[in-house]
Amino acid sequence: MEWSNENILAFLDFYEAESIVWNSGHNDHKNRNLVYDAWKRIERNMGGRYSVAETDKCNKCRTEKSYVVLRRKDVYCKNCFLTGTIHKFKALLGKSRLVRPNDKVLIYHKIGHPSTALLHFLRTGLDLNTPKKIRFEIDVLFIEDQYQLTVDERQDVIKKIKEEVTAFGFKIHFIPFIKYISDNSISEIMEYDNLHISGNDESKLLANFEKISNTNKNEIMNLMKRRLLVDVAKHLDCKFIFLPDTSVETASNLLSNMSLGRGCHVPFDTGFCDDREDVKILRPLRLFDMKELAFLQQI
Ligand SMILES: [Zn+2]
Repeated sequence: MEWSNENILAFLDFYEAESIVWNSGHNDHKNRNLVYDAWKRIERNMGGRYSVAETDKCNKCRTEKSYVVLRRKDVYCKNCFLTGTIHKFKALLGKSRLVRPNDKVLIYHKIGHPSTALLHFLRTGLDLNTPKKIRFEIDVLFIEDQYQLTVDERQDVIKKIKEEVTAFGFKIHFIPFIKYISDNSISEIMEYDNLHISGNDESKLLANFEKISNTNKNEIMNLMKRRLLVDVAKHLDCKFIFLPDTSVETASNLLSNMSLGRGCHVPFDTGFCDDREDVKILRPLRLFDMKELAFLQQI
C-alpha cells in the first residue's frame, strides 16, 4: 500500500490504541500470539490499506518475501530488515568516532519500543565476533515518575523494566524522580530492592511547582531530568549518555524550541550529539522512526 500521510496517521492512531504491542509494561506484551492478534486488528482497522505480511519481494535480496515497507517504497524481508537496522545504528555511532573502546555509557531507558530497540542494538553489537564489535561498557538508568499510575502498577512497571533490561544482560539503576527533585542529589543510586514508591509522590512533586505555568513546568521538569542524567553519568564515570529519541522526538524538540523562541538550542536538542556538558549526550536512534522500531520488536 501507499504510506500516504493520511494512512500513516491512521496507522499511528490504531497502533497507539494497541498498547500490548508497544508497552513493555503490558501484562501480555511477551505473548507473541496476543501481540500478533493486535497487529491483525490494526490491519483490519486499516481496512485493507495495510497488511501485516505485504506480498512483494524484498528490495535488497530480491528472493525473500517482504516483511516491512519503509518510507512508502523500501520493501525488506525479515533478515535484510534486521541487518539493515543494525548496520544503520552502528554506522551512525561509528561515523561520529566519539565513543571509544572501554568508555562507559549511560543508557536512559524509558517505557516503549525505542528503548527496547536500543538495548537490542547494543546487545547485538557487543555480541559480534567481528572487528566491528561494540566495545564500550553499559549502565542503564530508569527514572521512576509514572505518577499517572497506581502504586501497584508503578511497582509492576519497575519489576518488568528490571526483568527486561536484565534479560539483555545489562545492569539497571532506578532513581525516583521525586527524590531527586526534593534533595537535588543522587547520593545513593537506587537499586531495585531499595526503591520506595509512595502514593503521594505526585503531590509532593507538584508542590515544588506551584504558581508555575504548565509550559514552564514541563520545561523545568525536562531540564531537571537532563541534570539528573548528567549527575548519574558523572557518578558512574560515564562519558556519554544515550537517549532513546527517535526521529519523532527529534522533530518535536525542534518545533517546541522554535515556538519557545529558543532557536539557538536547536542543534543541541535535535542533533546527534549535545556536547554542552563534560558528559556528551547522544541520540543514536535519531534516524529511526517508530514504525521501524515497532517492526523490529515484532520479529
Ligand atoms: Zn531480503
